Amino acid sequence: MKKSHDEAVATKPMVALFDVDETLVHTGGSGARSWKAAFEKLYDIPADIGEHSSAGETDSQVARATFKGVLGRDPSADELGKLYAAYLLHLADDIWKSEEYHVLPGAEQTLVRLGEAGVMLGLVSGAMEGAARTKLIPANLNRFFIYGGYGSDSPDRAELTRLAINKAIRLHDQLTPAQVYVVGDTPHDIEATKTAGAVSVGVASGHYSADELRAAGAAHVLVSLKEPFPGLSRPAPQRPRSKDPGVQPPARRR
Ligand SMILES: [Mg+2]
Repeated sequence: MKKSHDEAVATKPMVALFDVDETLVHTGGSGARSWKAAFEKLYDIPADIGEHSSAGETDSQVARATFKGVLGRDPSADELGKLYAAYLLHLADDIWKSEEYHVLPGAEQTLVRLGEAGVMLGLVSGAMEGAARTKLIPANLNRFFIYGGYGSDSPDRAELTRLAINKAIRLHDQLTPAQVYVVGDTPHDIEATKTAGAVSVGVASGHYSADELRAAGAAHVLVSLKEPFPGLSRPAPQRPRSKDPGVQPPARRR
């Protein structure tokens, strides 16, 4: 099989940072339902965030734009605090009831393989830290991640990506942004990664195709996380035991 350009040039990352929504898990609309419920509880308005924001925007951008869209003014700090609290509480409940919730194909296996290869793992999510972590609870994926950058660190995705990289540098003093791969499913993720000087890996598991992610300038594009991760060697093919000189037949029990 012909090797792709990506495989030929990729080196193993020191750190891999993963987006959450549509990269690791599909929540089946838990986030949108929880924003709607929060606006309904506080203002009696069942707000639709889809009318005021797009995929890959940070929670803070989503909250402010939706607030302004439905109430016609900017929220105060107090109002934002109440909105975030109502959102997080609803999400923590909804995430367990969401019928379409699932882990995306190959996500867990990829995290296991990266960890075994010595790659440090973190999160980069536009979701607030509490929301990002909550979304990973039913899939039991929180256990893989050492650190992260979240929508609660900055409303700007490039800035929160930079913050996550800086946290990684604290543990890895030789690290440069170019040794960090950032995995995401939207053009927003790819633009932010490029701005932060890291290597973007687009995964076409969300609303965007591989071609759209390539057009956004992704350094590597995967159709799903079932594909080999760039820079990791493929698992060695299983050879029949009898032809493996390193393996002796088990000694007979007496
Ligand atoms: Mg995403």
